[in-house]
Order: sequence, then structure tokens, then C-alpha cells
Amino acid sequence: MKARSWKRRFYGGLLGLLSLYLLWFGSLLLRHRPGRETPPGTPFPNEALGVYHVHTTFSDGRKSLEKVAAAASRQGLDFLILTDHGNPNRASLAGQGWKENVLVLAGSELSVSRGHLVALDFKIPERDFARNAEEAVLEVVAAGGFTVIAHPFSKTRWSWGGSAAFDGIEVVTADSMVRKNILRAIPYLPTLIFSPRIFLLKALDRPAQSLKKWDQLGAARAVYGYFSTDAHLAYKALFSYFGVHALLESPLARDFEQAKSQVFSALRRGSFYCAVDAARPAGGLSFWAEFRGGRFPMGSTISRNPSSRVEFRSQAPFPFPVQTRLLRNGEVIQSVEGTKIAFLSEKPGVYRLEIYLRGGSFLARDFPWIISNPIYIREAGS
Ligand SMILES: [Zn+2]
Ligand SMILES: [Zn+2]
Repeated sequence: MKARSWKRRFYGGLLGLLSLYLLWFGSLLLRHRPGRETPPGTPFPNEALGVYHVHTTFSDGRKSLEKVAAAASRQGLDFLILTDHGNPNRASLAGQGWKENVLVLAGSELSVSRGHLVALDFKIPERDFARNAEEAVLEVVAAGGFTVIAHPFSKTRWSWGGSAAFDGIEVVTADSMVRKNILRAIPYLPTLIFSPRIFLLKALDRPAQSLKKWDQLGAARAVYGYFSTDAHLAYKALFSYFGVHALLESPLARDFEQAKSQVFSALRRGSFYCAVDAARPAGGLSFWAEFRGGRFPMGSTISRNPSSRVEFRSQAPFPFPVQTRLLRNGEVIQSVEGTKIAFLSEKPGVYRLEIYLRGGSFLARDFPWIISNPIYIREAGS
């Protein structure tokens, strides 16, 4: 008798919990509007949308270059940056070109003494790049390329203070973050059936450590920030997850060599911003500084005399509520509803934008939907 009532209570409780979960999940479905899943397009003439850090079967990715390119094409991407493992990965480099209407570029993810280092836009070397991290950075630069530190706080022990002149840092790496936060996303597991996007968005938490490191590095020299997918599988979902919005000087050319140089040159200048496009398509942002009648886009370094002032401006066509924050050395100095920043500054520093979605989003409130690259203000002669 006693056992039966215990059982009844147990199953009753379980049923109660299940109903609560279903209610909560139902409300989640109501908030989920399939219309938002439209692939992001880029109606902005000089903006090219791409995905950075992707593996194929040339290393440990699950799909072949052809299938990966087809997935990128279906998501409406303009370019794709492969980073197969290797020092460098010569097969992957040989696979570059226009495929399925997508500009497929390849770098390599080098395994070096301090972890993983992404090398881009280099002349293919006769001998492999060094295993020593600092030497590898120098060799890539000597081969005309540039480097990005991959997943800086996972499987990496970088000597941040060293002289290695790497050019970029992954501020968020999807693969590492989703693995780290898999538990917090478990209640959203059933969404994988109809919208892996929701599950992926719920696995994101503020990348405080890498943002802080990035701002610190910027005090000494320009270092550009990347949202990296590090995709090995689930290409369809990941290709609409994080976007690299490259701001080109002219519309993307059809000629491969020309288009390649347009995209890499935008990355080298820091003329790009990153966004969680799965939360909302994020095209059309401009962030610039006005100084002595000139307009300096994101990525620029302005060298000025102590008394001269620089005005920071931004604008974007987002038709939904957002909050835009201007940061100097990681501290918020202006916050506006909407996208129009106007701020006059007399101080040197690392200035960048973080834009947050407000209302109706699966992204955590403190996760920046967009991060711009910085504009650096330096004292002349320093
Ligand atoms: Zn890696
Ligand atoms: Zn990787």
C-alpha cells in the first residue's frame, strides 16, 4: 500500500515536471518564427559575407571540399575560408577557387608549440612551416601571409607578451564554446530536430576572457578579432551561425585571384566585423572615425597630436531593436538604443563597437550579436 502511494507520487511528480517542460518548450516554439531562418543575404554592394575556420576531409572534417562548398552556397555565403590542419595543408590549398558560386579560400591551421595557429594568404612554402610557434609566425609573414591565433584559451598556451607579430585572434570559436557549454543547452536538445540554430545560440556565453585579452593586445598594436566556426561537421547549421562581414573597397570580383586579394586585404586591414547571423542577419554596419576632414573605417590606426579630437560614428539599417555600445580599452563609453553612435574623444585607445539584440532573440542578453573591429588612436610619435 505504502509502496503504491510512493510510486503514484513519483509518477505524478514526473508528469508534473514533464508538463512544465512541455509548457516552457511550447512557449519557446511560439517565440520561434521560421521566417527568421531565411539565409542571410548581402544586399550591401561592397560587403561580402563569409565564414572563417572550416575543416574538410583534407584534414579532420567530415565532408569533402565539394560538399562543404555546396553547403556554403545554399546558405548564401560569398566566401569560405578553409583552414585544414597541416603545416601547411597542401591538398586543401590546391582546392581553392570559385565553387558552387562561392569563393573558396584556403589557409592552414598549423600545429605549433603553443597550440593552433591559422595562417592565411601565404605563398606555399617549399619546406613545412616550423613547429615552434614564434618561428612559424615569422615564416608565414616572410611567405607574405598573416596569422590568427585559433581558440586562444582552449588547447593553446600562447606567450601573449612575446614579440610574435600575429595579426588576429579568435574572439569566439563555435566548436570550443559549444563543447564547453553543452550542458546549459541540454534543455533545448529537442530543437535540434527542427532548428539546430536555437540549440547553438543557447550554447553561447559571453567570451569575457578573449574580449579582455583582445583589448589588452590592442594597446600595443593592431590585432583583429574573428568569430570562428571551426566547423568539422554540421556545416549547414554552422554556415548560418557566425558571419564574417568583409567590407571591400569595390564589389567582389568574379576573377578568382582578384576576389581572393579583395577578401584577404579586407581582413589584413581589419575592415570586417563579425556577427552571430543565426540570431539575426547582420549586414550593413558602418563604423568609422572622423579626423581632420578624413573618414577612417574600422581597422584603421589614427596617429594624432595630444590636443586633436577624433569623432566616432556608426550606423546600420537594422529594422529591429538593438543596443549599440562604444568601448574604449574594453570600457563602455557610450551606449545608445539603435545604431547611431556619435562620440568625440580626446584620448588614445582601442575603440570598438559591440551591438546587442534587444527583444525576441535566443541569444543571451550579454552576448554581443556583433563586434566591430577596432579603430586605434595612438599619440603621434609613440
Ligand atoms: Zn584548432
Ligand atoms: Zn580548427
